[in-house]
Amino acid sequence: MEQWTIKKLLDWMVDYFQAKAIDSARLSAEMLISSVLGMKRIELYMHFDKVVAPDKLARLRELVKRCIANEPVQYLVGSCEFYSMTIKISPDCLVPRPETELLVERAIEFLRNHAPSQSVCDLCTGSGCVAIAIASGCKDAKIIATDICDKALAVAAENLARHDLQNRVELLCGDLFQPVIAELNGEPFALITVNPPYVTTSEMESLEDNVRKYEPALALHGGVEGLDIYCRIIAGVDPHLKSGGALIMEIGCAQGDAIKQMLKSTGIFKEIKVEKDFSNNDRIVTAIKK
Ligand code: GLN
Repeated sequence: MEQWTIKKLLDWMVDYFQAKAIDSARLSAEMLISSVLGMKRIELYMHFDKVVAPDKLARLRELVKRCIANEPVQYLVGSCEFYSMTIKISPDCLVPRPETELLVERAIEFLRNHAPSQSVCDLCTGSGCVAIAIASGCKDAKIIATDICDKALAVAAENLARHDLQNRVELLCGDLFQPVIAELNGEPFALITVNPPYVTTSEMESLEDNVRKYEPALALHGGVEGLDIYCRIIAGVDPHLKSGGALIMEIGCAQGDAIKQMLKSTGIFKEIKVEKDFSNNDRIVTAIKK
C-alpha cells in the first residue's frame, strides 16, 4: 500500500490548496498537518520521512475538505499567532488580524512613554488578543477587558489561563463601558483600546467567503456606515478616561475622517491622530484627552 510521509502529504496539500486558490497555501497546509500530528511547524521539516498513520490521514482529509470550503484554517486548528503569541480562538471570536498588532504597538508605546498609571480598559475584547498582548508587553499594566458576548469571553478566559495573566486582566461581560461602571470606584483609565465591529452593512455582503460565512457578524458589523459602535464609545468615554489618557481604536479603511470629526466634536481631546497600516489604509486612531 502507498505510504504517506509528511513530505508527500505536505507537497500534495500545498499543490491542492494552490489549485483551489486558498490563501497562504503552504502555511495553511503546515498549520493543519502540525495540528493533527501534534508537532510544531518546524518539526514537520525535521521529520519529512515519518509515515502518517491512517487515522491522522482521515482527520486531515476532513480538515482539507473544510479548508477548501473556505473555513478559516485558524478555526480548524483552534488557534493563531498574534503579536508572537499563540492565541486560542473559536468561531465565537474574530480571527485576530495582523493590522491589529499595530493597535497593540501603539498601546504599549503609550503606556511605556506617557502614563504613570498603567490602568487599561480593552473594549470588544473577543478572544482577548489585544488585552493579552498589552499585558505581556507592559508588566505593570492592569487591564479590564469587556465584551458583550459571553462565549467569546470564555475563549478569552482560556487565553488568560494559558498565558498566566488572570491576575492582571479581568474579564467582564456587558455592553462597552456598562460592566465597568460598578467596578471602577470613580477611577478613570490611563488607556482605552478597542477594535470594535466596523464593517458597513453593504460591505458585509461583499466580504470574502471565509469571513462572511464563518466569522461572527456580531464582531464585524458596525451598522449602515460601520460607525455605530464608535458613536457610542465616543459619546460615553469621557468619565472613563483620565486627563492625558489615550483612546486608541482600530478603524475601517474609509472611516478616518468621520471618526476624527466625531472625536473633535466632543471637545475633550487635545490631540487626534489617524495612522495608516502597511497597506496604506487608515487603520489606527489615537486621541489624547486634554
Ligand atoms: N478587519 C476586519 C475585516 O476586514 C474587520 C474587523 C472589525 O470589524 N473589527 O474583516
